[in-house]
Amino acid sequence: MSDDLFQLLSDTQRRLDAGSAHLPSYSTPPLGEPASAILHQVADRLQDNYPYAHPLYAGQMLKPPHPIARAAYALAMSVNPNNHALDGGRASSAMEIEAVAALAKMFHWPQHLGHLSSGGTFANLEALWVAGQLMPGKAIAASDQAHYTHSRISSVLGLPFATVPSDDRGRMDLTALEHLLATQNIGTVVVTLGTTAIGSVDPLDQILPLQKKYSFRIHVDAAYGGYFTLASNLSPETRAAFDAIPHADSIVIDPHKHGLQPYGCGSILFRDPAVGRLYKHDSPYTYFSSKDLHLGEISLECSRAGASAVALWATQQLLPYTPGGTFAQGLESSHAAALELHRRLGESAHFLTPFNPPQLDIVFWAVNAPTPEASSDRAQSIFDEAAKNNLHLALAKLPTRFFPHDAWEDTPHQTQKKVTCLRSVLMKPEHLLWLDHLWQRLQAAALPHVSSIPR
Ligand SMILES: *Cc1c(COP(=O)(O)O)cnc(C)c1O
Repeated sequence: MSDDLFQLLSDTQRRLDAGSAHLPSYSTPPLGEPASAILHQVADRLQDNYPYAHPLYAGQMLKPPHPIARAAYALAMSVNPNNHALDGGRASSAMEIEAVAALAKMFHWPQHLGHLSSGGTFANLEALWVAGQLMPGKAIAASDQAHYTHSRISSVLGLPFATVPSDDRGRMDLTALEHLLATQNIGTVVVTLGTTAIGSVDPLDQILPLQKKYSFRIHVDAAYGGYFTLASNLSPETRAAFDAIPHADSIVIDPHKHGLQPYGCGSILFRDPAVGRLYKHDSPYTYFSSKDLHLGEISLECSRAGASAVALWATQQLLPYTPGGTFAQGLESSHAAALELHRRLGESAHFLTPFNPPQLDIVFWAVNAPTPEASSDRAQSIFDEAAKNNLHLALAKLPTRFFPHDAWEDTPHQTQKKVTCLRSVLMKPEHLLWLDHLWQRLQAAALPHVSSIPR
């Protein structure tokens, strides 16, 4: 843990406190011996975690917050602002408006209505709640690789939900989508730019033309993948999907996924500020395009952590969302790390890779074994073996159709069949530098199990 973080925090805390120096002093509960003992206990208990911040943690979608986010959040905690209303947090509300505007600007929207939320799920709920009011009674459609919460959110909202099959690369199947649009009552299509399991990117650029023909809303769920719009090294096909984002009706992006923020920071953006009228409210809708919008009146959630907005704002000042900037380079480095790991896996006789390289920074692979069942067992042992050697991967049960059709020769190709895969989300900019370490440990974990394979 860096000492400069705590030094900076104590200096800036003094500066913040100076703002209330004119008030009579008052006392806060002392942190005596009992508190110290409890906090030591907390430190001990918190050791029971995977080392999420370390580059050898290359498993689930977890990225440590930037130290400036941590410092800004901690500083704001001494005020504990509530961004429900200006009464609860004037400065942090202003910072939220600026931080959300930076997100909208990243997607090239000249105007927007939006705010931060506790996370992507709540942000998606808001997007679909608005969509449901504008397309009453019509269904929400999302691919079978979309986040699992979309069908649940639809059921909470009382809206019908339709699943669109994905192709063998986990992207929404356009033929299936068009079939659904033609035969069913689809009001909104959820287009996922970066699926949570494998980082596949739905072809938004090819879904847009269908909108003219069938008229439906497009909600982009970019909770995980949205920031990749800043990366310069995406494949042309992935780039085309990201370049179409400005045409979406709404966007969800989670600063607590790739935006270096502590948990509790999602966001929802609407392209048309007039949707603000749908939030229960007395003012005429023009109010919502004025500068004085009151965040509590355009959010389904009431109390929200002003500290989240402060942390995001501070991080954006240090690492602005500029193509070619340090923040963008971090995403490029994650994508490069994923491509490199995929390449090495593809060259190894021990593993099976999907035919196409990763679109973003999630890599998944299967273990080369005669059957999907044997492969699944081996994936589990490699996962355990690697963890013993401090390399933390993830496991994911994925359709066998994501692998080349001859991967398991004896198994007839069944679309529903699944295999347990190893999976790595290489979200940290350091992962590229650490790739040799990851690779060595992965090989060491795999060798005792794979060397006996007859093939
Ligand atoms: C993570 C994720 C969500 C859910 O967001 P939370 O912040 O975990 O609530 C929704 N959609 C996608 C694509 C995600 O990756």
